[in-house]
Amino acid sequence: MFINGCVFLTSDLTMFEKEVLVDPKEYVRIDHKLLRFWVTEIFVSLGLRSEDAEVISDVLVTADLMGISSHGVQRVKRYVDGIKVGAVNPKPEIKVVERGATALVDGDNGLGHPTSVKAMALAIAKAESYGIGISLVRRSHHFGIAGYYALKAVDKGFIGVSMTNSEALVSYVNSLGRFLGTNPLAVAVPTPTPPPILFDAATSIVPVGKVEIYAKLGREIPEGWVIDSEGNYLKGNASEVLKAIKNHRASILPLGGLGEEFGGHKGSGLSLVIDIISGILSGAAWGPHVGYTTVKEANVGHAFIALNIEFFMDKNTFYERISKYIKEIKELKKHPKAYKVWIPGEKSWLTMETRKKLGIPIHKNVLKELIEISKEQHLEIPLSLDL
Ligand code: NDP
Repeated sequence: MFINGCVFLTSDLTMFEKEVLVDPKEYVRIDHKLLRFWVTEIFVSLGLRSEDAEVISDVLVTADLMGISSHGVQRVKRYVDGIKVGAVNPKPEIKVVERGATALVDGDNGLGHPTSVKAMALAIAKAESYGIGISLVRRSHHFGIAGYYALKAVDKGFIGVSMTNSEALVSYVNSLGRFLGTNPLAVAVPTPTPPPILFDAATSIVPVGKVEIYAKLGREIPEGWVIDSEGNYLKGNASEVLKAIKNHRASILPLGGLGEEFGGHKGSGLSLVIDIISGILSGAAWGPHVGYTTVKEANVGHAFIALNIEFFMDKNTFYERISKYIKEIKELKKHPKAYKVWIPGEKSWLTMETRKKLGIPIHKNVLKELIEISKEQHLEIPLSLDL
């Protein structure tokens, strides 16, 4: 059943898909544990430590479970290519300098996921003692979905914040060309009963992963996401639009879109401050100086903050207050065109629960990439597929 952008797989509306599968025949549902195993094997075969490979695989498969296929296993190829060309260090030696509630982490040019898990663990440990902990990371690479790390703080009953800069793909407001990253921000908040609140968003109108996945699915890019080098909207065939972005003939717009009328200055302003904290202050690269995974040492910067609620108020009082807040939002008068008023993180949670039971729908073109990589690495493909 399809209701206003949401897909309900059962009439009691308990099985929910946040992502609309344009042509369900083009997907194969795969068990999340099997997918984790498969992706871990791929990274181990490339020389990564098994514990690091497990973390990377878990971040990617969690993204797919949550219905964020732009940042799921469709990203395996990019990371594999980065390792193969030597742009990514497969066995980084992470260095940490700790001072009070802060930690400064050097990722030694490894993939961002294992370094980020360590950096968030440090922020959480600091928040136990100081009420707040903050870790900044330099010399890292892409870390996947920001929300994964913010949720690590929620596991401890803390509020978690994570952010990162990324390769420049976005135009700064009122300018042409690629200058800012799609720099996402995630904030995760514990609640007395799941799901936790999780707001996790790019500061661009869409992350480039969405354009990539549209290209793999043969979909069209709508007007308003991308402009060309003269500042005109670029829409249509996603592969062509992606090619134009990659060749610096186009750029993604910041959140709020073109110019100032709908708040493009707010999107680019948010991206700028994330870049200052994760890039400038950490000692990493910023803006156009951030590298791409498959080209060179990217020097991506991340920031992780943990807030210990007990330093501000009793946990039960917080839970009472946050529950009332959620209830007030849920009781708002619904817009006639909307299906439902949602809390951030709710749709992802429902999608995850559904996909844990039914398997994750992976597009055949993404599966073909995984099979190709496995063959190149002389790995057995852990399931039989007729694609
Ligand atoms: P979305 O636009 O899909 O979602 C943004 C947030 O809004 C989510 O928390 C979502 O929660 C929430 N949301 C969606 N609809 C509603 C609603 N109706 N009411 C209330 N809340 C809602 O995210 P993006 O496409 O911008 O980003 C996708 C992912 O890409 C993120 O995980 C981000 O971290 C990652 N990313 C990573 C980058 C990197 O360099 N590492 C760069 C850019 C992005 P829910 O889905 O649960 O509703």
